[in-house]
Amino acid sequence: MQNWRDNIRRVTPYTPGEQPAETDVVKLNTNENPYPPAPEVEEALREAACETGLLRRYPDPEAQELVEALASFYGMSPERIFVGVGSDDVLAMSFLTFFNGDRPLLFPDITYSFYEVWAGLFQIPFEKVPLDEGFHLRKEDYFRENGGIIFPNPNAPTGIEESLEDIEEILQHNPSSVVIIDEAYVDFGARSAAELIDRYDNLLVVQTFSKSRSMAGVRIGFAMGQPELIGALKAVKYSFNSYTMSRLTIKAGTAALKNRAYFRETAEKICQTRELAQKRLREFGFILEDSRTNFLFVTHPVWPARKLYEDLKREHIYVRFFPQPRIDNYLRITVGTDEEMSKLYDFLAGYKG
Ligand code: PMP
Repeated sequence: MQNWRDNIRRVTPYTPGEQPAETDVVKLNTNENPYPPAPEVEEALREAACETGLLRRYPDPEAQELVEALASFYGMSPERIFVGVGSDDVLAMSFLTFFNGDRPLLFPDITYSFYEVWAGLFQIPFEKVPLDEGFHLRKEDYFRENGGIIFPNPNAPTGIEESLEDIEEILQHNPSSVVIIDEAYVDFGARSAAELIDRYDNLLVVQTFSKSRSMAGVRIGFAMGQPELIGALKAVKYSFNSYTMSRLTIKAGTAALKNRAYFRETAEKICQTRELAQKRLREFGFILEDSRTNFLFVTHPVWPARKLYEDLKREHIYVRFFPQPRIDNYLRITVGTDEEMSKLYDFLAGYKG
């Protein structure tokens, strides 16, 4: 007799960073933005809360208001934009839509660990391509047959940016695959591949409101690509769940896009704190590459990462440790406010290992 247990889809889920219940912590472990969202967001949510009918009715499945606001922000036509519930949702839908062949999907061995989880969930064959010694991507490794390519730029958790020229070469060698560039951290000083979309019908660029727009709790992500890719994504999304973005989410996201100056200033503040943090951490003996993100990926020649992570946690300073081959002596430290970073420096100044 068949057992229902044999039919369960077994997966190894993604492990997100800790969200400690205590509030009095220095939280540098999940790459959240330490500054509030644009003031327009709070205003829009207040207004929305008073609008009768807002909660009673289904939201617009196309989220047209938000799509149009994104289109005008990025100077792109709305047919080139797809929105979802955080970039995790957009990326999951993209895996389901575009990686549906027999050849392996390629992504770096050290990267966003959710890629492997989605590949497992959707039973997509994949190969992890090792980064070089310095954690740089070797473009030539992607000049071969494959069923799709995805990597973040800048990469996570390394913070390293690859040049747009290298990305373009990867695109040129892969006209038969969809190439996804996950730009979750692009707004902290990196160059977006969005400018290549006109020339490459197989390029999808994915971004999020979680980092540079301080809205991780609202859950908004989006993809930009030629209408054929966007149309395919929409068809899969509407075959799964049409009403994923709430009316409040659509309002909040649209409002955030109204204030370009605030967006730029907040990202700039984080970049300044990051530059200072790189200097300070090097003074403490840490080894790190220059980051183009809102986090730093560091290792220390004397202090083992796991122990430092635990010692920091005991002092209510949370950073991220990945018990994975090649990076299990590294810590990923999110760039917080100058005040939060000072608490980290104070701890390190007295640290004996
Ligand atoms: N891509 C990368 C590389 C990330 O680090 C993250 C954040 N965990 C995401 C995508 C997903 O972010 P969100 O779903 O909040 O947009």
